[in-house]
Amino acid sequence: MGEFDCYCLLCSGPLVPCDIGSTSRARLTQRRRRIAKKLLAIEEGRSFDSFASDSDEEAGHDSESDCQEGDGDGEVWEQDERRSYDPDVAGNELVGWVEDIRVLGVDGGGRAFVSGRANYDDAGLIYVEQGDDPNQPSISEKPYYDCYVPSNDNEVVFPFHTHCMLVFEEAFKWSCTHSRRGKESLDLTTLYKTATRIGSLTNLNLDYGGISGVDQCWECIPGEEYSVIDPLRFSLDALDFIYKWPSAANPSQPTGSKAKGTETEKVIIDPFNSLPIEILHLICGHLPADALQYFLAASVTAYYATKNESFWKALCLERVPWAWEVWRDIDGDGEKEVVDTKQGKGKVGVNYKKLFFCLERNTEQKFGLGVENRGWLGLVNRRRIWDVCVRVSGEYWEDRKGVDG
Ligand SMILES: [Zn+2]
Repeated sequence: MGEFDCYCLLCSGPLVPCDIGSTSRARLTQRRRRIAKKLLAIEEGRSFDSFASDSDEEAGHDSESDCQEGDGDGEVWEQDERRSYDPDVAGNELVGWVEDIRVLGVDGGGRAFVSGRANYDDAGLIYVEQGDDPNQPSISEKPYYDCYVPSNDNEVVFPFHTHCMLVFEEAFKWSCTHSRRGKESLDLTTLYKTATRIGSLTNLNLDYGGISGVDQCWECIPGEEYSVIDPLRFSLDALDFIYKWPSAANPSQPTGSKAKGTETEKVIIDPFNSLPIEILHLICGHLPADALQYFLAASVTAYYATKNESFWKALCLERVPWAWEVWRDIDGDGEKEVVDTKQGKGKVGVNYKKLFFCLERNTEQKFGLGVENRGWLGLVNRRRIWDVCVRVSGEYWEDRKGVDG
């Protein structure tokens, strides 16, 4: 059987190291120019072959001379550059986590186990180390398994990144609370059953959020670095201004004389002013961040219907639960303790509206997220993985229903 990759159960990301491109300035310039071209093509609805040679269509002599000049690592082939990630965006410290793998399997008695560290070999074969789960068969008898399907006539296991399982555990807790199931512990045997039921050849038969690296072998697509960035990498420092300036101008509040001057007029022609507040809240709850901002700017009725801080707090918990560090950092009264160099230590209120827009916008998954978005890429990937985990949880509850009767 030929060479092929299998992918993480939860994120469909690679189980093997990613290819990182050249750090030479000329190569970086060329790489980013290609990404800008592809982004433009996507915006214009045109197709763009990421792997095709660009010497014909691009200012060929331009990029060629760029790359000869000061190209310290000439051994990096152009073709490799088109199949590798930007070293400034996907440094080793941000992508090394993909090699931290375990597998979910069942022993001879049908009891689930999580293995020790695992190493993907090839063609579906994966080697495991002995972990601390007492259900794991001894590796002297079972050192290797087949991923997803019995490609090599071994027993089937489901590989996952350790970090993705942590995201799954958080999403599972959230889905229990959200569906009013209360505190339920995760049953790995049911999860194995679910993975078997919805498994495909190299991952699950699920929507993994539109990433395009999955192929016969993983393709490191430039511009999709976010798909392999460690989902646990996120620093609250990115949000500091939310807490320190809780009364700062609101991003979605109509500002300036133009907005004030047209308020009465908007009330008169606002088609939403006959809707009950609950319906307006439902509409707001389903709109993407940008559309929501436009809606609040266009409809004064909607704007005033969402003035209450409790609306934004509920929306945050509903729409951005994956930013769990943020919620742990805020106490029950919606305050956070901060240390300010001028004002000293104290508690400040949280501007949930601002927090919502900040988290939603900065974690929006799109092609071409680069160096300027670096601090957010872990959370972008976590948001994507969280959505997959919620889908897996939904499937899990279907199988659990069968067990519970
Ligand atoms: Zn994963």
